[in-house]
Amino acid sequence: MRLSQFFLPTLKETPAEAQIASHRLMLRAGMVRQLSAGIYSWLPLGYRVLKKIEQIVREEQDAIGCNELLMPTIQPAELWQESGRYEDYGQEMLRITDRHDRKMLFGPTNEEVITDIFRKDVRSYKQLPQLMYHIQWKFRDEIRPRFGVMRGREFLMKDAYSFDIDYESSRHAYNKMFLAYCRTFTRLGVKAIPMVADTGPIGGDLSHEFIILAETGESEVFCDQKWLNKDLSGQGVDLNDRTGLENWVQTVLEDYAATEEKHDPANTPVAGDDLIATRGIEVGHIFHFGAKYSEPMNATVLGPDGKEVPVMMGSYGIGVSRLVGALIEASHDENGIIWPEAVAPYKVGLINLRTGDDACDAACEDVYGKLQNAKIDVLYDDRDIRAGGKFADMDLIGLPWQIVIGPKGLKAGIVELKNRKSGERTEVTLEAALKQVGA
Ligand code: ATP
Ligand code: MG
Repeated sequence: MRLSQFFLPTLKETPAEAQIASHRLMLRAGMVRQLSAGIYSWLPLGYRVLKKIEQIVREEQDAIGCNELLMPTIQPAELWQESGRYEDYGQEMLRITDRHDRKMLFGPTNEEVITDIFRKDVRSYKQLPQLMYHIQWKFRDEIRPRFGVMRGREFLMKDAYSFDIDYESSRHAYNKMFLAYCRTFTRLGVKAIPMVADTGPIGGDLSHEFIILAETGESEVFCDQKWLNKDLSGQGVDLNDRTGLENWVQTVLEDYAATEEKHDPANTPVAGDDLIATRGIEVGHIFHFGAKYSEPMNATVLGPDGKEVPVMMGSYGIGVSRLVGALIEASHDENGIIWPEAVAPYKVGLINLRTGDDACDAACEDVYGKLQNAKIDVLYDDRDIRAGGKFADMDLIGLPWQIVIGPKGLKAGIVELKNRKSGERTEVTLEAALKQVGA
């Protein structure tokens, strides 16, 4: 993409409404714009990141055999009356009345809808287990939307649901999802610590929140410092080996980690310097809740003994749009964002120090073409503006690599290669620069 043709409205000034770094940087880098409180438009740069995160989330769900589907955003109130949550959910639910006076709502989550899908077509234990997910916009009329996309009213969530015949199998689904979450966050380049959590209005008896430690997070959390160096990549774990997987999950969970609601200072196995008390951002939440929805909604199956039993369920969320902010919170400096390579909107930023100079233009076009041929995402700053402005914008938007081409270097046959994360700049030949970025 050429920057001269790209819609990238960057801001020099810090927007007054933004209280935390990620919100400031998302506005300054032209990633999002607020339409109404807690409701954002995703501009081209932000949308690219959102899609990259979504794709990694998707691949790891697919890898554990979870089926992707798409449920609507608008739901009928009757389903929620059946489950008993219509009143319970309170003012966070955006209630809508259609032209026939039917009560509808904009879905804040999808347990009812998926249970309805399930009960209409699944009759026997032989059709189990089932794992399904979708990635869809949710609406929660949060009392205090803030911190940009971190606590929005409209936000993108991956929500998955498991259906099993008994507790043991249901637990296996929970463990598979636990593994998928560890793999997902590792691929996204962040450490998200699974912490014992409250189940809240979703209900149930077994639950973990995945939390990225950050001073600006909204949750108070407590954990053993051992978590900081723990490998959560989940490599080599066999998801079909029930016992092996259960043992792996238990080993991961050996060290203390709890959210404020579950933290009991009198009964904490770690103390002193070993106990980290800080804040964190909840990026995922997994629940096992058994028959909480299947019972009131009559989602039953025939068991092997011919008896009808309510299906055992779990639900598993990831805050896809919140992750965009959370990743920035975890990785930025005073000049801007520092994207982990896996989610960077482009891998390489190509800076032409003197647009209009024949030699510089020709060299940049050549590099641009070569990167594109090598299928490397490149953003080419071909604008006719001062070099200082180009450097500032490139640092602000945080692409992993910058290739800087200017008239002086060209004469000597060299370009500058900058690594955004380490800040290291090297003068190298064009070939060496291309090789370094993978072309
Ligand atoms: P929170 O405690 O932050 O209000 P929650 O526990 O109500 O979140 P869940 O129902 O567990 O949220 O939703 C699954 C995931 O969706 C959360 O882990 C979070 O990452 C994301 N999420 C929830 N509410 C919001 C929001 N208002 N804006 C952005 N993401 C959200
Ligand atoms: Mg939660």
